[in-house]
Amino acid sequence: MSYDTIARIAEKHNARILFDESIARYTSFNIGGSCDAVVMPNSADCIRELVSECRAEDIKYYVFGKCTNVLISDNGLRGVVILIGGDCSDIRREGDCLICDAGASLSKICTAAKTASLSGLEFAYGIPGSAGGALYMNAGAFGGEMKDVVKYCDYLDSDGTVKRMDNADMQLSYRHSAFTGTDKIILSVCFELHPGDSNEISEKMNGIMCKRREKQPLEYPSAGSTFKRPEGHFAAKLIEDSGLKGYTVGGAQVSEKHSGFVINRGGASAEDIKKIVNDIKDKVYKDSGVMLECEMLIVE
Ligand SMILES: Cc1cc2nc3c(=O)[nH]c(=O)nc-3n(C[C@H](O)[C@H](O)[C@H](O)COP(=O)(O)OP(=O)(O)OC[C@H]3O[C@@H](n4cnc5c(N)ncnc54)[C@H](O)[C@@H]3O)c2cc1C
Repeated sequence: MSYDTIARIAEKHNARILFDESIARYTSFNIGGSCDAVVMPNSADCIRELVSECRAEDIKYYVFGKCTNVLISDNGLRGVVILIGGDCSDIRREGDCLICDAGASLSKICTAAKTASLSGLEFAYGIPGSAGGALYMNAGAFGGEMKDVVKYCDYLDSDGTVKRMDNADMQLSYRHSAFTGTDKIILSVCFELHPGDSNEISEKMNGIMCKRREKQPLEYPSAGSTFKRPEGHFAAKLIEDSGLKGYTVGGAQVSEKHSGFVINRGGASAEDIKKIVNDIKDKVYKDSGVMLECEMLIVE
């Protein structure tokens, strides 16, 4: 497969492109093999042209943000991997709204909100994803979720045109949005916040970060909570009750600090993670009758 045209589009936009690049260094799991081409677009136009070329030439492509909720195969990915991250991360204020490029990190957006004395996003402090990835997943924590703060987003539709979608049409529910499983690409997200006191906002964010550090194994690579919260249960409790705390497969381990996290203790492969996930699902189902469902997305 030749990626000459993709390279030319990247060059035209001054966007970074790397060939035969290991994806592991871009994922929060530090896992994943060599990918044919990895592009970091720096504008909505660049994304649109890349995707349009891939679609026209039938080149397989993948879109990720900060890769904090994905497990990518040890064999890498064939085709073009489009990482919408720091190179596409402008944030601007309009009244009480922050309009953020899809690649803006939630930490940068939360800091911008705090600086602008805008409240509403405190719950998201410490979620390590991008605006696009967070909206796609309807990310949430500490009683808040994207659903509460997103006003609208602009996205690239399957027909190659840029459209706007309002919150009411986003079908936002637990770790699900209207973008889940579609080829729509989120280009920017408008967060509607409200005036607050920047010291109070800061205090709330710091409190949340302390809780995260205390409870979560942030010292190890992971993709956050491995499983969705099953109706009426807590995944971590079920896993612990099945005696799986600390259970290890190769370099993968059920965190001893928080059983809801599978961590990379060092040198874990995607296969190790998949095996530990399947072992957990089997044992928990056998012991409790509850079938756990992965929250992180397995891409191969
Ligand atoms: C330590 C840790 C803690 C975490 N804590 C939380 C938490 O408290 N709450 C929570 O909800 N999550 C949490 N997560 C998971 C993760 O950070 C969130 O789901 C985050 O929103 C994913 O964003 P991302 O940019 O990394 O998306 P990625 O992992 O890159 O992608 C996730 C999905 O979104 C799609 N996607 C990404 N960007 C776009 C785009 N621009 N347009 C269309 N589709 C796109 C991808 O195709 C993929 O299917 C945690 C993860 C870690 C590692």
